[in-house]
Amino acid sequence: MTFTVAIIGRPNVGKSTLFNRLVGKRLALVDDQPGVTRDRREGQGRLADLTFRIIDTAGLEEAFDDSLAGRMRSQTERALADADAVLLLVDARTGTTPLDNHFANWLRSTDKPVILVANKAEGKAAQGGLMDAYALGLGSPVPLSAEHGEGMEMLYDALRPLVDAAEAAEKAAREAAEGDGDGKGERPLALAIVGRPNVGKSTLVNRMLGEERMLTGPEAGVTRDAIASDWAWKGRPVRLVDTAGLRRKSRVSEKLEKLSVAESLRTIRLAEVVVLLLDAAEGLDKQDLTIASHVVEEGRALIIAVNKWDLARDRDATLKAFRDRLATSFAQVGHNIPVVTFSAMTGQGVDKLMPAVFKAHEAWNRRVPTAALNRWLSDMTERHPPPMVKGRRLRLRYMTQIKSRPPTFAVFQSSRGELPDSYGRYLQNGLRDDFGFGAVPIRIYFRSGK
Ligand code: GDP
Ligand code: GDP
Repeated sequence: MTFTVAIIGRPNVGKSTLFNRLVGKRLALVDDQPGVTRDRREGQGRLADLTFRIIDTAGLEEAFDDSLAGRMRSQTERALADADAVLLLVDARTGTTPLDNHFANWLRSTDKPVILVANKAEGKAAQGGLMDAYALGLGSPVPLSAEHGEGMEMLYDALRPLVDAAEAAEKAAREAAEGDGDGKGERPLALAIVGRPNVGKSTLVNRMLGEERMLTGPEAGVTRDAIASDWAWKGRPVRLVDTAGLRRKSRVSEKLEKLSVAESLRTIRLAEVVVLLLDAAEGLDKQDLTIASHVVEEGRALIIAVNKWDLARDRDATLKAFRDRLATSFAQVGHNIPVVTFSAMTGQGVDKLMPAVFKAHEAWNRRVPTAALNRWLSDMTERHPPPMVKGRRLRLRYMTQIKSRPPTFAVFQSSRGELPDSYGRYLQNGLRDDFGFGAVPIRIYFRSGK
């Protein structure tokens, strides 16, 4: 699949500049022939690890002198028809114009996802236009400077979920066509169970999937590969990602397999929720902490599961030791990381795991409405105002959740100047407590004119 992005907007907002930045100038100049009716330009766009086809509609309008709006629209319509997503560019310096409104109204009536981009957002002159752009009714604008390459990470954050969703939809369509979907339509929760060898991963998976679906039967083969990944918990589809390691072990039936951090990192990236399984008798070691911090860094929801609870002698003391270790190792989220204890062998307590998984998944997906966030922000800044930076008090004007999975927020500052990390943490912890995000990683981007 080639994900296709169309850049749309009135003349002079910076479409070509953005196109060039995403494609790389060399490629972009290829079919740029002045004086000739220009065909739309296309190229291979790239933004961090995302690649996509990109269509620029700039210049199309110049070849015609009848009604500009009408002309642009018909040209743009063609680009739109081919696109999976649209970047609607506006100029944050000049503010919005009737032509911007015209595009916005039109795009709102299509079912294509639209990312509103407020270009030329570098410097103070952009503040008014940025605020203006909210009024277009296409959600929060991504403030960007195509010329200076600023804000590209926010464009990435806006684009990434659309690419992921398109890929997931394509995958689902493919699976439906192949006839092995469950037909319910709900996207399965992607769950990974990771942990050192011998902590009981296979035992747990067998228990969760049901005894009759043992992974460890004598006849290896196709059916076994298929059963491992998909099942339903209380009617909700769950996909266990990367059970290859478990299958491999069951075939070889030896416990020497080393858990490579690289391998668990790959598994973590495939998952939405990660259960880190520990052995009650062994505590949390350095390797466990490394994996746990990968989970948090990758923005996944983490659950700690302590297995072999049947062997734990002083349960209160054991649990406290785990919690203390987590709290000191993860200053931000340590005390919030859910800890579940059970015995995969006897089955005792295993029923607590999936409710914790779905709860974390729900928080990970949660969206806080902008109005509620801004009421909250003014409370927070009143209680504890942002510090002075270079003799000036920074003001936080506005806040919005730009995405979920994991929850990611943008806070707009009134002036340039870097907020100290401690203030970011204050907001992060506040969000966590006040909106019930638990231990789910929360990201906040601070944006000023600069
Ligand atoms: P298009 O007609 O939408 O393709 O716009 P262009 O890409 O040709 O840009 C129009 C003008 O805006 C050019 O002079 C660019 O140099 C300028 N421009 C583009 N991006 C930015 C930006 O991020 N900041 C500023 N200040 N100017 C920009
Ligand atoms: P894996 O390497 O993480 O997949 O671990 P296994 O599932 O193969 O389990 C390793 C060993 O621990 C096996 O001998 C299991 O029977 C044992 N085991 C697993 N879960 C429990 C448990 O809850 N309690 C006890 N006592 N032993 C367990």
